[in-house]
Parts: sequence; structure tokens; C-alpha cells
Amino acid sequence: MAANVLIDVEVLYYMSRHELPLHRGLHTYLGGGAAGLLAGLLMWGVVLLLVRVMPVSSRWKQRLTQTSPTRLLRQSLFAGLIGGLSHVFLDSLMHDDMHPLWPFVTGNTLAGSISVAALHIGLGLLGLFALVLWLMLREPQ
Ligand SMILES: [Zn+2]
Repeated sequence: MAANVLIDVEVLYYMSRHELPLHRGLHTYLGGGAAGLLAGLLMWGVVLLLVRVMPVSSRWKQRLTQTSPTRLLRQSLFAGLIGGLSHVFLDSLMHDDMHPLWPFVTGNTLAGSISVAALHIGLGLLGLFALVLWLMLREPQ
């Protein structure tokens, strides 16, 4: 989630300046991957800080303190990388001002390959599926 916000700060920045194109370096697999790793690193730090201020009785605190900081870092970096790369992929389906494979290839052949409505419906259904899966697999309270 943090990777997605971090990457779209680029769009907000260029929108605020009325400068086109809106999707630049962070909307490439290289930039999005780097931003994702940075977001993962930042979130790892946030988690380590939050663990310190959580009440001792917190179930989250108990679980997080049982996990080594190195493992948490690996998980945070991996999650950030997945978030950054998937952001670039999904955006490349709808924004023709992107160059996702820059600096190796310019242009975006995926833009318009699926309608925006179909993309949004598909993502909504995926979110619903993920919610159902999470509800089925979560640990009992
Ligand atoms: Zn974006």
C-alpha cells in the first residue's frame, strides 16, 4: 500500500505543476521497483517503532516480537517490491503516457489493451475474492 502511495506522489506532483506527462520515472518497472523497496524499508521502520508502543497484551505485538527483525525486513522489502511492480503493471494497462520498460524500451503497448471499466471491475472482483479468502483463512479470535 505504501509503495502505491509513494509512486503516485509522482502523478500528484506533475498534476500540481500542470506538466505532462504525469507518469514518469516512478511509473517504470525500474523506478517502481526501487520505490517499492524504499516503501518496504520505510514500513519496516514503522513496524519496528509501532511494536515498541503497542500494549504488552497486544496479539500483534506478541506475534511481531516472535519474528526476527531480519525476517520482517525481508517480508517488508518483498511486499514493497510486489506493490511497486504490480502498480506499474496495472497502471500500464490504462495510461498511454507511460514507458514501463524504460530505459530499455520506450512506449507502452499494453495501454488500452483492456477497458478501464473492465480493469476496475476485475480489480474489484479480485479484492472481493481476497477478502473472502482472508476471512476463511484467518486465525480464530
Ligand atoms: Zn500510478
